Formats: sequence, C-alpha cells, structure tokens
Amino acid sequence: MNVLLPQAEPGQDAGLLVASTLPVSFVDGPGNRFTIFLQGCNFDCFNCHNPSLIGESNQACWTTVDSLLEQIRAHAAFLSGVTVSGGEATLQLEGLLALFEAIKTDPDLAHLTTFVDTNGTLDESGWRRLAPVLDGAMIDVKAIDDLTHRIITGQGNAEVVASARTLHALGRLTEVRLLVIEGLTDGEAELITYAAFVRSLDPTLPVRLMAYRHHGVREKGRRWPETSSVTVEAVAETLRSHGLTDVRTSSVS
Ligand code: SF4
Repeated sequence: MNVLLPQAEPGQDAGLLVASTLPVSFVDGPGNRFTIFLQGCNFDCFNCHNPSLIGESNQACWTTVDSLLEQIRAHAAFLSGVTVSGGEATLQLEGLLALFEAIKTDPDLAHLTTFVDTNGTLDESGWRRLAPVLDGAMIDVKAIDDLTHRIITGQGNAEVVASARTLHALGRLTEVRLLVIEGLTDGEAELITYAAFVRSLDPTLPVRLMAYRHHGVREKGRRWPETSSVTVEAVAETLRSHGLTDVRTSSVS
C-alpha cells in the first residue's frame, strides 16, 4: 500500500501528521509515556483495531515539533519518556527525527527516553539515521511464516525480519510483539520457527503476546475468532519450551 504523507515545505517548521496524543500511557513502553499516534500505515492488517489510522483522514492534524514539545513539556515532570506509534511511526521519518533530536537537545526534556512502536518496514539506512536519538523500539513480528504474514497484513515479512535484526544489532530492540490469532499464528510449526528466530537474536529478548480481539476491527477481521486466554498461555508455554526466557502476556490486541 502506498501512503502519501505531507512533508514540511522548505522553510516550514518540521512537523508530523498526528492522529491523536495521549498525555500519559502505561502500555506504550516502559514507565509513564507521552504517546503520539501518527496518521498513515503501509500495512492493511485485518486485525487492525484502529483502521481509521491506515489511510488519509481529515481528523489528523499537521502538528509542528515545537507544538509537540510544548505539550510534552506540560507533562514532563510525570513522564519516563515519549513513544511514537501509529499507524506506522517511521513512515514520517523526517518529522520523527526532528522530534527526537529536539527532545534529546532540550534541557527540560533530555531525561525522557524516546521509543517507537513499529510494524518494522523502515529500511536499514532509516534505522541507522534514527538510532542516535532512539532509545528503544517495540516491533510487531506478526508472523514468521511469510504466507501467514501476507494473510494478516497484505504484505510479506522480509522487511520486518530485517528490521528486527538491524534494531537488535544497533542495540535498540526492546520488545517483539506477536498477536496470537487462533488458526493462524498459534500453530506449533509457526511457534517453533518464531522461537528460533528470536533465539537467533537473543533468547532473553522480551516477547509480548497479545490476544486477538474484535474491538474496533473491520468486518473481515470478525471472520477469525477472538483468542482465549487459554490459547495465549499455551502459546507462551510453547515459546518458553523452545528457549525463550521472557515471554509476556497481555490482553490487548
Ligand atoms: S501495522 Fe498496525 S496500524 Fe498498520 S494496519 Fe497493521 S495493525 Fe493497523
């Protein structure tokens, strides 16, 4: 899916196309986080629980970095960091770089950690540009089997797998996320391959399992059943039994 996103004009202040912000979040990375949800995604996942973020939206608002810094500053005393999510955060790489660079060089904000929540489609050169101002990345590896990944997202997973490797090599990979969908991502062969992939990076890497839920998804996503906690626990046990030491469970999809 090609996504056209506005960029700052020459001479215009850097900014981002923002769908919404959350002044304090406890689920978008470590500690209390100011979270920014960007408009636009290059995947089209049937499980997407916020599909209004995928394409264009007249609800989204071009927001300058200065304006975002002002909002963050108002909450800075209570924050551990800032997370940029989406949509897909890295589609707006120039604005993302400008925001994180500004945070790192602002004496009032430099204590905040900078994280992205990503679908993993940024290329290696993009990650290398971002790394100096990025503290951590949480990446969705939605399936290790390429065909399964295509069924879920509409695209193959080669870029995602490469991003996980690049982020790990850069020391910025903090969490891998697997959405557990019964009949799709919970099969033993898939899980054994998934565990082997994570082990090849680091067997102690946190892997967060999320149960598939229907909340917010489009009609096509309702063809797949919601995932029971029993299934999530079984998946966790399988991954642990294949060498992963930090498998976490969550009820959020
Ligand atoms: S990558 Fe995330 S935001 Fe993009 S379509 Fe998939 S679930 Fe939605």
